[in-house]
Amino acid sequence: MKGLVHSIETFGTVDGPGIRFVLFLKGCPLRCKYCHNPDTWTTTGAQEYNVEDIVNRVLKYKGYYGDKGGITVSGGEPLVQMDFVIELFKELKKHNINTAVDTSGFMYNPNNEECVRKHEELNKYTDLFLLDIKHIDNLEHIELTGVPNDNTLAFAKYLSDNNKDMWIRHVVVPGITLNDEYLIKLKEFIDTLKTVKKIDVLPYHTMGEVKYNNLGIEYPLKGVRTPSKEEIINVKKILGVIKNDN
Ligand code: SF4
Repeated sequence: MKGLVHSIETFGTVDGPGIRFVLFLKGCPLRCKYCHNPDTWTTTGAQEYNVEDIVNRVLKYKGYYGDKGGITVSGGEPLVQMDFVIELFKELKKHNINTAVDTSGFMYNPNNEECVRKHEELNKYTDLFLLDIKHIDNLEHIELTGVPNDNTLAFAKYLSDNNKDMWIRHVVVPGITLNDEYLIKLKEFIDTLKTVKKIDVLPYHTMGEVKYNNLGIEYPLKGVRTPSKEEIINVKKILGVIKNDN
């Protein structure tokens, strides 16, 4: 089976625990306004790798990954290529490699039996999900990403109900997600989940803007500033990442 790959990072340190092999897959049905990888949206220009190619590459660096590190499959939305990810993780688990998926959760449709069955299969071989909750408010989520958030929230509940560890990731954008009311609502939702091991607060940055220019796409957040250090501290307090008296 072939995977459509955007790029590979062999010593990633921000997409999951420890040092990780990060595989960025092509294809994404979302159009997040702050996306810094618009070149992953389509499969144009993808490099094709089969499962064995990737397994061999990961094993080459196994010594560096240790017990904590491993592989993270990111994107794009990696679960667009669900069958490839399942096959890849199945093989990597034979070599005791720690596995993580960085996902928007959008591909999980609780009303589709086949889809649920595939997620169950994926769960067998996945140690950690990095789940991006883009916006807790559904209408704002649609405005920000082009799609509703119900699949994402259903996926979070599904992971919790099935005892799968997850990290919640949330990008803080002034004027969009930097809003106490929404953050409190997000925290209330996270508190209903039993298996959240970490909350990753990610300050919005403009580093992707140049890619939009190169692709000839207008940058949707032109003029939006990055959040200040104080604002990020406030977000972390609301989400319970740091204590209020810090
Ligand atoms: S889900 Fe990820 S890759 Fe897809 S548009 Fe959003 S930020 Fe970009």
